[in-house]
Amino acid sequence: MASPKPLSVLVVGAGFGGLSTAIECANRGMQVTVIEKYPDSNSQGDILDIFPNAGRIIKAWDGGKVGQEIHDTGCDKIRSMEVHKYDGKYVTEVDWARDEFEHDITYAGHRGKLHSIIMAYAKRLVPDIRIGVGVTKYLENEEQAGIVLSTGETLWADCVIAADGPRSVAREQVLGLINEDETNTDSKWAVFRSFFKTDEASRELLRANGLLYPDRDLVRFWMFDNLSMMAFVWNDGADVAWDDKASEEGWSNSNIASREHLAKWMEPFTGKDARAIYNVTPVGKTIDFKLVYRPAIDKWTSKGGRTILIGDAAHANLPTAGQGASQALEDSVTLAHCLEVCGGDVKLALEATQRIRYHRSNAVHKSGQVNRDAFYKTPWEVIEADAHTFAKRRWPKLKPWDPLQFAKEQFPKIAEDIKNGVTGSLDEVAIPPPEGGYWP
Ligand SMILES: Cc1cc2nc3c(=O)[nH]c(=O)nc-3n(C[C@H](O)[C@H](O)[C@H](O)COP(=O)(O)OP(=O)(O)OC[C@H]3O[C@@H](n4cnc5c(N)ncnc54)[C@H](O)[C@@H]3O)c2cc1C
Repeated sequence: MASPKPLSVLVVGAGFGGLSTAIECANRGMQVTVIEKYPDSNSQGDILDIFPNAGRIIKAWDGGKVGQEIHDTGCDKIRSMEVHKYDGKYVTEVDWARDEFEHDITYAGHRGKLHSIIMAYAKRLVPDIRIGVGVTKYLENEEQAGIVLSTGETLWADCVIAADGPRSVAREQVLGLINEDETNTDSKWAVFRSFFKTDEASRELLRANGLLYPDRDLVRFWMFDNLSMMAFVWNDGADVAWDDKASEEGWSNSNIASREHLAKWMEPFTGKDARAIYNVTPVGKTIDFKLVYRPAIDKWTSKGGRTILIGDAAHANLPTAGQGASQALEDSVTLAHCLEVCGGDVKLALEATQRIRYHRSNAVHKSGQVNRDAFYKTPWEVIEADAHTFAKRRWPKLKPWDPLQFAKEQFPKIAEDIKNGVTGSLDEVAIPPPEGGYWP
């Protein structure tokens, strides 16, 4: 008997969500095509963290080789996150990972580098990755979902996965969501992001200011009212990345920040360590991002059921959640598993995916706001009285989660619900959070 035809999957966007979906689907024998608008969108950014809830997905790729490559180049000798006051005074530190295993599945590094490693692996599995071609229109009929490309070509497949980021076209075209209200979409946050290579003189300055350890990498966080700064120093000081996050600002998108503009936002950080980071930063190496925020949505799939939004397109978190890439990866492995076990019923797979992911994703989305408020609205006396409890509250433990295991456990029940016609709002029909919530 001939084996059934593999499912065909069109992925829109080659960010972390799109690439991970492509990899997970290709590894399950599906026929995948990826469309990415920007010819080189991915050299940008500073540091990107992937925590164990998603790092375990990467660890499984190519027998661990992809993860190892990220460790080899990335920031993987971190012991703790050091929390300092804006004037440089040490406040507390929080373990980066709980044990060796968690450490092994926690990744950090330059976003562009991590992306290029994952892209290289995706290209080995998926021959059809088209870069520099945008999707302009989403289509759907009873049997197929399709996309129209900026070249005018139309592609059809069993399903379309829109992983097109926070400025998603699919949000409007597929879900009919129009973000007319700017207050809804402006995060009121901006971030200066910087990544650069150092020379020996800069490394000497870092060393002299306690920022370069002989045996490990550094993650340091400085807090000020409505402003925070975070720096990573790794590869024996050869690589430095930092960002400076401010609330209640509305800067332009993705511009090189001028030294004068930057100086204003660095003023509160008077400690010699934060000043040293600023002083070694080459002119022209700091980008000024306006962060786009999207409220959580209550439906991820199209009316016809063959198109789904994932990643930042479905849930653009605040950076204080620290889970942008990790949540996109959780979506991808859930989706790929549902497609693998749906018996060819793609609509069932997409519906199951949103029911499995909805509450956890919303909880993470909310944690971005809770963290921001805990951080920006907590008086210094409270922080200094019990700094460690404060720091632990700010970084809740999402980490022990295994999204693939969760999808495997939940799919049979949720598929049964769908087949039995259990309907209602996504809030009602989705898998509820585990007892005690997501972070013990
Ligand atoms: C340039 C850039 C820099 C970033 N820097 C950082 C950082 O330093 N630290 C951090 O934690 N997070 C950073 N992020 C965010 C982080 O990468 C995402 O939150 C996370 O990886 C979620 O990934 P995603 O795939 O859902 O979305 P994204 O990473 O935003 O990927 C979406 C992709 O879809 C593509 N796309 C959009 N519209 C279309 C279309 N119509 N047709 C085809 N393709 C389309 C985009 O070009 C993009 O590559 C950055 C994101 C970007 C795009």
